[in-house]
Amino acid sequence: MSPVLRTEGVVKAFGDRVVLDGVDVTVSQHEVVVLIGASGSGKSTLLRTINLLEPIDDGRIWLAGEDVSDPRVDVDAVRGRIGVVFQQFNLFPHLSVLDNVTLAARHVHRTPKAEAEETGRRLLERVGLADFAKAYPDRLSGGQQQRVAIVRAIATNPELLLLDEITSALDPQLVGEVLDLVAELKEQGSTILMTTHEMHFAEHAADRVVFLKDGRIAEEGPPAQVLRDPQHEDTRAFLARFR
Ligand code: ADP
Ligand code: MG
Repeated sequence: MSPVLRTEGVVKAFGDRVVLDGVDVTVSQHEVVVLIGASGSGKSTLLRTINLLEPIDDGRIWLAGEDVSDPRVDVDAVRGRIGVVFQQFNLFPHLSVLDNVTLAARHVHRTPKAEAEETGRRLLERVGLADFAKAYPDRLSGGQQQRVAIVRAIATNPELLLLDEITSALDPQLVGEVLDLVAELKEQGSTILMTTHEMHFAEHAADRVVFLKDGRIAEEGPPAQVLRDPQHEDTRAFLARFR
């Protein structure tokens, strides 16, 4: 069976600055892969190329065996198969929590309203936010908003979840509730490619850790190896900042 995601030799430049310099990443079904690396190493850009928000200059990207880097691909259809959560809770402020959660299902996937709302309520219930279904996002804490954003991302049953520093903008005491939800999704079999600076979480939740340095993969492997016994000098220098 094809992996859920495979990138091969992905190159991306902004002007003459090469930001991704031949990146090969594979994420298999039910796998959680954590991308680490210094600010500016290309983590967000890689996630954005996978979601087809940035065109690539070379290489290929396959989603479940389909070449989605082919220029003839239906971009909206590909995006509909991927759930994305960014650092900033980008909930629509003028929509209720339930409407935020059901928007993509109803308008992109054409799911009937009643069915989308039933799914949305069930998911909100699962993350302990059922009471907020009719509330507007500004009534919620940052951690609650980010959990709603995750629920919104999984509401359409995506094949792949891309999570980009989803706890970086949160007060420290709210980080745990969001990471607990990610750990729960992993238990339930989600396939996830994520970036984080939460090394403790990476160590416990990741199946594989990929260290990106200046747009190249410098080292990758099981978390116990990459985080506890890094082989590459650059990985050691990067990790030393978290000690
Ligand atoms: P990371 O997420 O690892 O911090 P990014 O992928 O955001 O890194 O950025 C990698 C590099 O690409 C940085 O030097 C950043 O300034 C540059 N970059 C990202 N997006 C753009 C853009 N739209 N235009 C020009 N440069 C960009
Ligand atoms: Mg980033």
